[in-house]
Amino acid sequence: MSVLFDRIALIGIGLIGSSLAHDIRRLGLTKEIVVATRSADTLKRAEELGLGDRYTTSSADAVRDADLIIVSVPVGASESVAKEIAINLKPGAVVTDVGSTKASVIAQMQPHMPDNVHFIPGHPLAGTEKSGPDAGFPGLFEGRWCIFTPVSGTDETALKRLRGFWEALGSKVDEMDAEHHDKVLAIVSHLPHIIAYNIVGTADDLETVTESEVIKYSASGFRDFTRLAASDPTMWRDVCLHNRDAILEMLARFSEDLAYLQRAIRWGEGDKIFELFTRTRAIRRSIVQAGQDVDAPDFGRPHPLDKK
Ligand code: NAP
Repeated sequence: MSVLFDRIALIGIGLIGSSLAHDIRRLGLTKEIVVATRSADTLKRAEELGLGDRYTTSSADAVRDADLIIVSVPVGASESVAKEIAINLKPGAVVTDVGSTKASVIAQMQPHMPDNVHFIPGHPLAGTEKSGPDAGFPGLFEGRWCIFTPVSGTDETALKRLRGFWEALGSKVDEMDAEHHDKVLAIVSHLPHIIAYNIVGTADDLETVTESEVIKYSASGFRDFTRLAASDPTMWRDVCLHNRDAILEMLARFSEDLAYLQRAIRWGEGDKIFELFTRTRAIRRSIVQAGQDVDAPDFGRPHPLDKK
């Protein structure tokens, strides 16, 4: 593949930043990768893993002469990063991010962006529950969506260049406004994580069922929530605080629907319960058909008698 940006600066080198580094290198999308992260420990690990060509704990230094800057830090840190890098941005550079909430990131970053750079907020819908530079791997973005939420007046050529970058990683690109993104993500990502954190917390607080029983019998459903509930606490705290309105709206809807189900169970209304469970099963089939998951039982987990 050909070089798309001569120099790429990765600000933040956790799961997302390091996955980007693997793919940029593997696909030859740049001549030089500059890695910046705030702590010396993470920087050292990134260097040991060979994720970049140059390493620094200064974001401001990292962006000097970079043609593409990708900010991959918790969304609550967006403003401080924007302030730090603004002064050294090269005219014509493309600045993007990967944050899970978009209206807040725009509000934090855009005011600090000089007029002569192209700021294009983005969000790859790809990840795992792991974090840090060791968590990244090549191919994370393959077949996944990346959503851009461009602000008005965004330069079409810059948009096209950034789209080409994500497509080179194997992603499919969509565009929508930031408020709509935040609503969609509140239901498809933020609410599931909040429910998972909550159910695992509830189990942990129970007095009538012991923790060892919860763990011992977890394969009956509970453990599927624990994957989401093991996600990075800093990242998810920031998501909750920076997409507050959309999350509260979805939580209100969720609570109403849960009360409906609770009532159906209380009154033995099997037809209502059956109708809901049938509808939800069809959603799973649609996800598999859309290529967003494997069509294997139990998410394709290996089982003891599977052939080696
Ligand atoms: P991560 O693995 O926890 O890595 C976070 C990176 O940000 C590290 O380099 C860390 O630096 C740096 N950082 C943390 N706090 C900071 C602060 N206050 N100021 C400056 N830098 C800071 O996180 P991640 O999973 O890659 O997530 C990064 C972004 O991607 C987040 O905005 C998240 O919403 C978004 N995202 C995540 C996923 C996912 O599944 N994880 C999916 C899509 C989008 P040090 O280690 O040096 O402190």
